[in-house]
Amino acid sequence: MYDFHYLRPATIDEASRLLATEPDAKPMSGGMSLLPAMKQRLSRWSAIVDLGGVAGLDEIRMEHGALVIGARARHVSVLSSSVVRAAIPALAELAEGIGDPLVRNRGAIGGSVANADPAADYPAALLGLGATVVTNRREIAADDFFTGLFETALEAGEIITAVRFPVPKRAAYAKYRHPASRYAVVGAFVAETAEGVRVAVTGAASHVFRVPAFETALSKSLSLDALAGVTPAYGDLNADLFASSEYRAHVIGEMVRRAVQACLHPSTPSRNA
Ligand SMILES: Cc1cc2nc3c(=O)[nH]c(=O)nc-3n(C[C@H](O)[C@H](O)[C@H](O)COP(=O)(O)OP(=O)(O)OC[C@H]3O[C@@H](n4cnc5c(N)ncnc54)[C@H](O)[C@@H]3O)c2cc1C
Repeated sequence: MYDFHYLRPATIDEASRLLATEPDAKPMSGGMSLLPAMKQRLSRWSAIVDLGGVAGLDEIRMEHGALVIGARARHVSVLSSSVVRAAIPALAELAEGIGDPLVRNRGAIGGSVANADPAADYPAALLGLGATVVTNRREIAADDFFTGLFETALEAGEIITAVRFPVPKRAAYAKYRHPASRYAVVGAFVAETAEGVRVAVTGAASHVFRVPAFETALSKSLSLDALAGVTPAYGDLNADLFASSEYRAHVIGEMVRRAVQACLHPSTPSRNA
């Protein structure tokens, strides 16, 4: 690991100032992705601005009918929150399926969203639910946020402070997880919203994406029958030693089917062991 300054501001304003004045500074949530990259000398920062000392950044609350999750809310806080369970149970179940206990105890929603790992789970929920990313400068719709492989619309020095989720009528997340890493080989988030059904897929391409063919069919009828004969055309899908792109295309259909099933019958298991 290269030398760096460790800074622990107490407020977002102080964090913003540090990120603006330090020549090459990076914000940190739980450090679950940032620190391993630094340890392996894959990335180098002059200063780390630890958001762990910013009071209130881990708050989870309802605001004007929407669920607001603070950027420093750890996965374990989301999965165990009665507020999340009451508003969007699918989100708590998604958090429960992330990684292992260590990852869930340190990783946070803001870090996961900013990192934009192509196989991460939260991006599917943000896109599937039509969430809004709130930063220290502006608000960004999830549809405009995830721009590429580990790329987002965030500018240098911009800090995610919260994610705001509209509450859907029904929603479910189905994940086929990698047996070793627990990341999504493919994950599908299906949400019935006031404007129709949204379907977002993670793990299958360079970044999370929506599937209009499934959305149109499911908006007419949120049922398994509605999926019959729907065969979306995908762009470039990921291929690796574990899953070819053809296999991933097949698993997308299966995960969407399972998510729909879980919307209809919420006790249906929606991820592999
Ligand atoms: C072994 C392992 C298994 C995992 N399995 C899964 C899985 O199954 N599913 C899944 O979704 N994820 C998984 N993860 C990822 C995990 O959930 C973390 O959320 C992710 O690693 C990011 O870590 P973090 O939240 O601690 O953020 P950090 O590592 O602190 O930061 C990650 C990036 O986000 C930036 N950042 C952090 N906070 C903010 C902010 N508030 N505003 C702007 N930028 C910010 C940082 O500068 C950095 O670039 C796994 C991780 C590990 C190590």
